[in-house]
This record gives sequence, structure tokens and C-alpha cells, in this order.
Amino acid sequence: QGNTLFLITPTHTRPEQKAELTRLSQTLLLVPNLHWIVVEDSASKTLLVSKFLSECSLNYTHLNVKTPDNYKLQSKDPNWLKPRGVLQRNLALHWLRNNIDIQTQKGVVYFADDDNTYSLKLFEEMRDTKIVSVWPVGLVGGLRYEKPIVNNGKVTQWFTYWKPRRPFAMDMAGFAVNLHRFFEFKEAKFDYNVPRGYQESVLLQGLQVKMTDLEPKAELCTKILVWHTRTEKTKLKNEERMKMQFGHGSDPQIEL
Ligand code: UDP
Ligand code: MN
Repeated sequence: QGNTLFLITPTHTRPEQKAELTRLSQTLLLVPNLHWIVVEDSASKTLLVSKFLSECSLNYTHLNVKTPDNYKLQSKDPNWLKPRGVLQRNLALHWLRNNIDIQTQKGVVYFADDDNTYSLKLFEEMRDTKIVSVWPVGLVGGLRYEKPIVNNGKVTQWFTYWKPRRPFAMDMAGFAVNLHRFFEFKEAKFDYNVPRGYQESVLLQGLQVKMTDLEPKAELCTKILVWHTRTEKTKLKNEERMKMQFGHGSDPQIEL
């Protein structure tokens, strides 16, 4: 099956979490040779995610690290205010560098948020990544899609409205990296101390990636195989009202 796919998924507690993890994991069940690294944004591993993973039938590693309060998005903050998943993805990279024997393990690393939508075709597109492969992402950046612009088989620019001059002006879902690269450049990681929208760029620059290294996938970046879907926040406004009317709200023993 060639390279093992190492998928790194930060995840955080909210009413929709188990639904998102269920949907994602059941996609991943259809992907051969995959290792799912799930990193909870929490001070300790939650029972919900621990039980979920132990029953999901995937190869997985369960990690956790809590985002410090000053970096944590508050519920009324707009989502672009602070980067999400920074420490969680870095912990997963640290785990890979310390737990994988790069002499024997061939792999590809992909950052798969828990709420996106992934075509199975995407995983086979990324599997033979030599350095960094790239492709379009649907429903992102206020556009139908963002994509690398490909000329004569090479990526030359970015089709992106927002800050198109970024070194790598693409969403986290738009690229995968050969595992070996993380062992050649051991310091490469995400960083809070960069301008908004520069997480992808800071990582790829840390990995000494050049534009000419990029391998356009998905039929030279003409097919959308991943969508930056976002789940609406569920309003639980009737929970409180139920207490008045019915004596109690929903049973907290029933896991959601
Ligand atoms: N996430 C997290 N902690 C948070 C918020 C988000 O670990 O406080 C995770 C989330 O579960 C997802 C990823 O980070 O896997 C990206 O977050 P989100 O989907 O909210 O970001 P957006 O789609 O708005 O870029
Ligand atoms: Mn998202």
C-alpha cells in the first residue's frame, strides 16, 4: 500500500464533537494503511474521546494538550481572531518525531480537521507525496474554492482572495508532507507568533519547502476532493426552559 498516511486531527469538546468524530472516523475506515493521531485540546484526555477511539476500529494515537487561555478562542470571538489547533498539531509532530522509526517507516503527514469533508480519492492522491503535494480546497476563503495555480505542471501562484502573497497561501487541508521531511527539519512547527493566515506558511518554510517542490495533485489541481465545511453551532436554548417546564433538562448521563 506504499506510504502510511498519518492524519493529525486536533479536536475540542463541544456538543457537536462526537458527531464530527463519527463522520470523520467512518470515512477513515475506508482508507487503507492509515494512522490517526487525535489530539484533544484539553488538560486531560476526556472519557468521551477515549471511549470513542477505543471503539472506532482505526489505528490511532490519542494525545492531549490544552490551549492556554490567552490563545483560546472565546465563544463570541470571530473564528479568525486566533489560530486553532496550533499546540495540538505541534504535539502530534513531536510524537511522530519521537515514536516513529524513520529508517523503516515510510509515511505522509496530513492535517485533517475534525469538521471538514474528505473524498476517499484525496487520500490516494496524497499517498505518493515525495516532498509536499497540494490540491484545491472547496468552500473556503469566501470563494467556491481556493487552489494552487498550476502552469506547465508546476505551482506558480495561489488562487486566493485573502493575502495571496503569502508564501503558501492555502488552507491546512490543501497539502500533505512526506514524513521524512519532518525528520530532516526537526525544528519545523506551527507558531502563535506569526501574522494571521501564516500557519501553513511558517510550517512549510520551516521544512525548507520551495514552490518548485510542490506536487500538484487532483488532476493538476482541477478537482475538489476536500471541503472546508463548518458545522453550525447548535443552540441548546430549550435545555434551560425544560428545567422550568419539565423539572429537569436532558440526562447528562446520556452521552451526546
Ligand atoms: N480546535 C481545537 N481547539 C479549539 C478550536 C478548534 O482543537 O479551541 C480544532 C477543531 O476541532 C478542528 C481544528 O482545531 O479540528 C480547526 O478548528 P475549526 O474547525 O474551528 O477552525 P476553522 O474551520 O474555523 O478554521
Ligand atoms: Mn473547521
